[in-house]
Amino acid sequence: MKRLSILGSTGSIGRSTLDVVASEPQNYKVVALAAGSNIELLEQQIRQFNPEVVAVNDPAAAKELSVRGLGVDILQGPEGLISAACLESADMVVSAIVGSPGLMPTYRAIQAGKDIALATKEALVMAGSIIMAEAKKQGVKILPVDSEHSAVFQCLDGRNMDEVDKIILTASGGAFRDRSLKDLENVTPAEALKHPNWEMGRKITIDSATLMNKGLEVIEAYWLFGVSIEKIDVIIHPQSIVHSMVKFIDGSIIAQLSVPDMKGPISYALSYPKRGASRIEPLNLAEVGTLTFQEPDLLKYPALNITFDALRAGGTMPCVLNAANEVAVEAFLNNVISFRGISQLVSDTMAVHEVLPGDSIEEVIQASEWAKKRAEAFIGL
Ligand code: MG
Repeated sequence: MKRLSILGSTGSIGRSTLDVVASEPQNYKVVALAAGSNIELLEQQIRQFNPEVVAVNDPAAAKELSVRGLGVDILQGPEGLISAACLESADMVVSAIVGSPGLMPTYRAIQAGKDIALATKEALVMAGSIIMAEAKKQGVKILPVDSEHSAVFQCLDGRNMDEVDKIILTASGGAFRDRSLKDLENVTPAEALKHPNWEMGRKITIDSATLMNKGLEVIEAYWLFGVSIEKIDVIIHPQSIVHSMVKFIDGSIIAQLSVPDMKGPISYALSYPKRGASRIEPLNLAEVGTLTFQEPDLLKYPALNITFDALRAGGTMPCVLNAANEVAVEAFLNNVISFRGISQLVSDTMAVHEVLPGDSIEEVIQASEWAKKRAEAFIGL
């Protein structure tokens, strides 16, 4: 029986995780749930899963939930999230809070010796060296939930990293993969939110349309697998069936395939090193028929180059990239900037950042705050 603390339980990954848990009550028990502000769904989850502890980031929502007589302690704010992450009785923390607020609870859970099923890629983007060093020190496993990284993890499955020539991350190309560069000037948030293959939260769906999500995943892969920047490639694969690949030094490529359903990688992370019964539709390759691949158009998707630049600059730069992107995506969704303005704002913010080593969590958080303020100032917020 694995006891889980689920951070971000009302989000897309959190809900899918609870689907997996509900289908295997003999294997998993939820001991903590943490969410941002969606207390209606959280209340249902509390009634269904009976956690020991609940945390709500938004204090007003926490107060409202706590008077509903659910018979469970309701913690609040960032400290509440950390308490849920570090709960004594939890064996594993599912880290699925969207964006930079997920960093501290994830870091503290590692310090508390919890294994991590990691969906919050921003934790590694912001503080990869710190997170990986702490995980090593504590003997904690970081199991990827991101579908691409789960795929790479499965392809590597105990291989020696010396045998790896390339990690090849696949990208669907997002909502605008069939649009021309010129067409992208006037696209709306509603259009950008229509992802062709995956059902995900708003932030990550916009990040998929810009390919910033893939850029963040390059940084995530860099830290998770400890490879050099040159060994990470991105390829467009519109069908989202091949979730990523590893090319070995002998020229062989091993790929992981399945229907696009996050319950696959979630199950793998939860049950690792075992494989559990399938929770997803079987893949019928004859029905899929064709799998295609193409090089990403770097003019159309400047975010990809920007993220490689940030990774090369090192230190606090990837953290600044991430923070500026969070501001930019929000501003695009609120019609403050254009779609193409997202990458522009990120690169403008990076251009005025003086890189710091970023070797303490405080320095990383300060850099993130600085970048948010700077990005907002650029667009007059
Ligand atoms: Mg992904």
